[in-house]
Amino acid sequence: MKTFAELGLADSLLRAVNAQGYTNPTPIQAEVIPEMIAGHDVIGIAQTGTGKTASFVLPILQALASQRLGPQKFSGPGPKAFTTLILAPTRELAQQISESIRTYGKFMRPSVALVVGGASPVPQIKALSAGLDIVVATPGRLLDHMRAGKARLDKTTTIVLDEADQMLDLGFMPAIQEIMRKISPNRQTLLLSATMPKPIRALAQEFMRTPKEIAVAAVSKPAEKIHQEVIMVEQALKSDLLVDLLAAREVERAIVFTRTKRGTDKVERMLNQAGLHTVGIHGDKSQGQRNRALAQFKDGSRKILVATDVAARGLDVSDVSHVVNFDMPTIAESYVHRIGRTGRAGRSGIAISLCDKSERGLLRDIERLTHTALEPAKELPEHAGRTGRFTLIALPADFVRKEEKQARSHPRPGGGGSNAGRRKPSGFKPAGKKPGARKFSSDKRTGNSSQRQQAR
Ligand code: AMP
Repeated sequence: MKTFAELGLADSLLRAVNAQGYTNPTPIQAEVIPEMIAGHDVIGIAQTGTGKTASFVLPILQALASQRLGPQKFSGPGPKAFTTLILAPTRELAQQISESIRTYGKFMRPSVALVVGGASPVPQIKALSAGLDIVVATPGRLLDHMRAGKARLDKTTTIVLDEADQMLDLGFMPAIQEIMRKISPNRQTLLLSATMPKPIRALAQEFMRTPKEIAVAAVSKPAEKIHQEVIMVEQALKSDLLVDLLAAREVERAIVFTRTKRGTDKVERMLNQAGLHTVGIHGDKSQGQRNRALAQFKDGSRKILVATDVAARGLDVSDVSHVVNFDMPTIAESYVHRIGRTGRAGRSGIAISLCDKSERGLLRDIERLTHTALEPAKELPEHAGRTGRFTLIALPADFVRKEEKQARSHPRPGGGGSNAGRRKPSGFKPAGKKPGARKFSSDKRTGNSSQRQQAR
């Protein structure tokens, strides 16, 4: 697998990527970044959640860093040219892209303007007259400025059409065509789309030069026989909850995913201290250690395996009854790979995701990618568990959904979530203890109340 450095990115970008905690490029990044750096036109067929934004933002910043391009400050009144234009279907997506530019460009400080509908045009006109590196725009508003003589595109040499199929659905095709005709013919074009309907193909044919087509494997929906649950929980309580879940459930064999290698070590240690027989694997362990850990997991002497995504790749262990996402995956695609470790060979499996409020945006990415609304778990370990910190709390039936809706109305990243402690609706009461251990399985989840953990 290639590293970001091998893709030819400048130091300032490698630092920024590193600061984000990314270890390796995603498949779309590994393919698109070198093509873009080489100056080719590219069609990328990829959905949200694949890391597609960085696949174009990084090479655009690379071009700025290598001084191939720069803000074009021409003298005289009127709008100045800008080198790069990124078109997106919605204000929210445009906003997210400009945030990504700031994140990955934090050691370069490119000049960026957001030109979208629903915002005052005055500051946009001011920015367009100042000379910029990058403009992120929705097609309608940009066209308004162009027609009013407030934006010029004749020196723009890189254009990205993000979520082209969405732009088509929203009726932006004529606006895009008008914009494309005004851009310098000597340009590089990247078109990203989850699907390639005919009008998008025609657009590519008309405006792109021998584009290289890159498709990331369509992420299939998770298998039906995997029961998926998500538990909203504060970060600080995740460890205790994990112990309770793994101790309370009928866990034959579980894989727990963490985001980082250090996280793997911590969780492995913590579970062993709690008396749960656990092994961990990650990239910094020697091959011998990894083989030994896997053998113990396979022969059942250790029934819990803690791993990072990279370490778990290619693992073929059957009979995994539970997959737990201790950390939500930063790339939505990884979610499908992770939970695909259970529910194999015709058996059913349970996938549980522990999500804290800062991970809500990641949860929404997963839902978008898999076209599935992930159901909040309705039951939690009833007994106080090993840790004594969790107990069942009954919530009104529609409570979680309402809150989901609120979360959805806030754009990414991370906005809109609230933690379990803040979410106490009235009528909240601890569920009485009932005899017999409850199972955390789908067939018992038909009651009209949901339950949620609460720190005692
Ligand atoms: P996107 O498909 O562009 O919406 O990105 C989805 C998520 O993946 C975002 O939260 C990014 O921060 C994250 N991401 C992008 N590239 C990587 C990477 N190479 N490694 C880990 N996470 C990434």
